[in-house]
Amino acid sequence: MPPSDTPVNAESPGVEGQSLIVFDDVVKRFGDLTVLDDLNFSVAPGERVTLIGPSGSGKTTILRLLMTLEKITEGVIWVGGEPFSHMRRGQGLVRASEGYMRERRKRIGMVFQQFNLFPNMSVRQNITEAPVHVLGTPKDEANARAKELLDLVGLGEKIDAHPTQLSGGQQQRVAIARALAMQPEILLLDEVTSALDPELVAGVLDVLREVAETTDITMLCVTHEMGFARDVSHRVLMFDQGQIAEEGPPEQIFGDPKEDRTKSFLRSVL
Ligand code: ADP
Repeated sequence: MPPSDTPVNAESPGVEGQSLIVFDDVVKRFGDLTVLDDLNFSVAPGERVTLIGPSGSGKTTILRLLMTLEKITEGVIWVGGEPFSHMRRGQGLVRASEGYMRERRKRIGMVFQQFNLFPNMSVRQNITEAPVHVLGTPKDEANARAKELLDLVGLGEKIDAHPTQLSGGQQQRVAIARALAMQPEILLLDEVTSALDPELVAGVLDVLREVAETTDITMLCVTHEMGFARDVSHRVLMFDQGQIAEEGPPEQIFGDPKEDRTKSFLRSVL
């Protein structure tokens, strides 16, 4: 695979198969450390995929590449049949510019482990800020949508509260509403319950189950909550050292894992 700042083949691998996200021979290195090692996988529209595996196996890096928080070292990421890590130039692809990536990532929402709400804004402003300023949604419309989304996450009455007045679980539910307010096609969830007190975890997971059941949003989820992964995902990818060690439907991965690495990982978390 050529280095990604020289033109590479501009043919999308996955358009024919209708994949929404394609990782095509993706390599990510930090200095000498290879974090993603020639990784290939794709995600269909509406599919919910959970990434599991030991700490340091590269799961979060995958989400961060899709949020354009990290740059790919080699290979190409495609979203919706269009290059994402790269852009078309003539017959080939060159590394994407900041502006190109900013435009392309509008279709992707992310919820982080730390809720990252704006502390100086009300819940309503947290949710309407990006739709109004990034998408140009009229304020009235953005406000109405914020109310609907807060009802969805069970916090309709907190619309005028400030984040500091909310529990961690409530803040995370607002963060989910904020991500959904951008009407993303893809929702990335990065260990969204890891920073929560145990009694607050179930409420957040219930909200995500509801989102999964009531929308056709494509989800890519890194989680240690194996019960949630089993309930919500169509497919589980088990990562080890930057590669997919095993993949399959949750019933198979959790009920009848084939690989020793999967078995020992599951023994350590279940
Ligand atoms: P996981 O989500 O599976 O725990 P990560 O994707 O967070 O794994 O990290 C994979 C590896 O990459 C780890 O060894 C981590 O220390 C390393 N890593 C992640 N981000 C950076 C960075 N910005 N600089 C250097 N190393 C990093």
